[in-house]
Amino acid sequence: MKILRLILGDQLNYQHSWFSRKDPEVLYLMMEIRQETDYVLHHAQKILAFFGAMRAFAEYIKSCGHQVAYLKITDPENRQNLPDNLDLWVKRWRADRVEYLEPDEYRLDQQLKMWAKKQKIPVVCLSAEHFLTGRHDFAHMFEKSDGPYIMERFYRKIRRKYHLMLDSHGKPWGGRWNFDKENRHFFKGGKEVPPVWESSAVWESVWRDIEVSQCQWFGEVKTKNLGFPQTRQEALNLLNHFLRWGLPHFGTFQDSMNEAYPFLWHSRLSFALNVKMLHPMEVVQAALQAYQSSQDRMSLSQLEGFVRQIVGWREFMRGIYWKHMPAFATLNFFGHERPLPSWYWNGRTRMHCLHVCIRDSLRNAYAHHIQRLMITGAFCLLAGVYPDEVDRWYLGIYADAVEWVQITNTRGMSQYADGGLTATKPYVGSATYINRMSDYCSSCYYDPHEKFGPRACPWNALFWNFFIQHREKLQKNPRLGPVYRNLNRMPQEMQGRLVEKAGQVLEDLEKI
Ligand code: FAD
Ligand code: SF4
Repeated sequence: MKILRLILGDQLNYQHSWFSRKDPEVLYLMMEIRQETDYVLHHAQKILAFFGAMRAFAEYIKSCGHQVAYLKITDPENRQNLPDNLDLWVKRWRADRVEYLEPDEYRLDQQLKMWAKKQKIPVVCLSAEHFLTGRHDFAHMFEKSDGPYIMERFYRKIRRKYHLMLDSHGKPWGGRWNFDKENRHFFKGGKEVPPVWESSAVWESVWRDIEVSQCQWFGEVKTKNLGFPQTRQEALNLLNHFLRWGLPHFGTFQDSMNEAYPFLWHSRLSFALNVKMLHPMEVVQAALQAYQSSQDRMSLSQLEGFVRQIVGWREFMRGIYWKHMPAFATLNFFGHERPLPSWYWNGRTRMHCLHVCIRDSLRNAYAHHIQRLMITGAFCLLAGVYPDEVDRWYLGIYADAVEWVQITNTRGMSQYADGGLTATKPYVGSATYINRMSDYCSSCYYDPHEKFGPRACPWNALFWNFFIQHREKLQKNPRLGPVYRNLNRMPQEMQGRLVEKAGQVLEDLEKI
């Protein structure tokens, strides 16, 4: 029986059981297609990272003796979309059966299901053998609830399921499940920041093909020293680099932002994880081993902070995605409609926090979580930007952006457009927060301590205006009790001035 097996660009699982046996009757099909480069405007490094990693993966499985048909973006026979290329190769290979791996994006899942329905031969969907939870485990876990979902409950279940960081009585190490409170320190210097990891691969030929194909892109082009691994070996190097340098202080400075050090102690493993070069459990086990062999220089809070991101947040977001798609992609709880300011595409704003985070995202196709959540994301929420535009920006700019984890973080956690399914409160701050957690304000045109006047930091009026405008929807949220107590103590006249100032900021949004 001749089998055609499809491998999508984010299914580069070197350890998948498919590859444990060579079979002359099996052909693996991989493709670089305009369908995927064009559904949103992408950062050049995102396209490079995906195509480079796909090509290296195809070479690897070929070198192991498997047969591979690889369609480059420039191949004349490439029909540039999934169904047409599949039709072509089913015919060419005279396939009796097609197999594909569970896609992680709703869009592709639907497209493949539709294509499968039209075939006369069996088309079978198999596990991508990557996640710690099945696509619908989350829905079963929360079957009696339509949200809000509590990540902590989910996280404890997964730790119990895999017996992670638990003693023989099933109690968490250190007597606590969560060390989040220890993880909110500002990095003031005085500690050696990890050296920056860079890929040693050269991406010239990939870039040449991208140019020839005339794909649209934005951001800084780099054909060497990329921050994303091209092969599994490089991904393992990056993991080891993180375990040595990043993990010992990961938790402590997780929320910190520093202009000179865009990566701080973050792992930058998201691309390697999302394209499945690394398995989440191997990453967690490696972190556990690193902790056990160096407890003298690493506290439990560092390890727990990291494990929570991978087995907690990452799997939790995927669960919400599959429970709530496709409706999730249209949610707009606050009814926000403002266009995304044009400086999100070039970083040209006097607000130094936004300037730095956007500039570095354009340079690196990367920003760490707090930069995404509390700077670029929070500003969009305070300014009332249309969530579709916010989603498109995040989906395009970061190399790790695949919809299941991007949209849940953006529309859910950062824009609260899901009305609180993902996050228990809107994540926004005034200049006080940014000034406490970063060194951005010290080089800014604006004054973080001022609410009024030409040099007043725009975040301050926007922050209060947001809670005034959305009082009806938010004031009963217990997590916002302190905010509304402060607001209620504020004289009406002051509230009026803040709303007026916010109105001016929003009117001048393109020029601030
Ligand atoms: P680290 O800080 O080193 O964390 C370790 C790992 O934990 C990450 O590699 C990631 O796999 C996982 N992780 C951490 N936080 C989250 C989270 N909130 N959700 C899911 N996994 C998490 N992550 C993506 O992978 N792709 C995206 O497109 C994406 N878009 C985001 C958009 C917004 C608005 C926000 C607020 C967050 C987004 N995130 C996204 C989550 C998170 O910011 C990134 O996973 C993280 O910054 C990647 O950098 P890192 O590998 O250095 O992470
Ligand atoms: Fe950002 Fe305001 Fe600080 Fe400037 S003063 S960096 S705009 S928070």
